[in-house]
Amino acid sequence: MPVTRSHTKHIPERTCIVCRQKRPKWELVRIVRTPQGALEIDNRGKKAGRGAYLCRTVDCLESGLRHKRLEYALKVEIGPEQRAGLLEYCKTLLAGGNSVERRSELHIEGACG
Ligand SMILES: [Zn+2]
Repeated sequence: MPVTRSHTKHIPERTCIVCRQKRPKWELVRIVRTPQGALEIDNRGKKAGRGAYLCRTVDCLESGLRHKRLEYALKVEIGPEQRAGLLEYCKTLLAGGNSVERRSELHIEGACG
């Protein structure tokens, strides 16, 4: 079943916790606090737990992590190692596979209704 963007009536929008811009969900990165208290980047938008959305830009991801916005949004403390790990992951995410990621997100959106 093909998913056509032009016929989408409802686009789920989320607000970036750093710049407060509203964007379609798939244009944002979701970071989730798992029930175990770990932070994970949720590429599929399916993980359970409290989540925060950030733009897929270095600016928003970095300031979200550096200025404790993420900690505030998720009500969790991020240690220096965890912070470095997340930053590293974010940069990898931004460096490649963005368009591929986007396509799969779109597909999931269509499938879930
Ligand atoms: Zn942003």
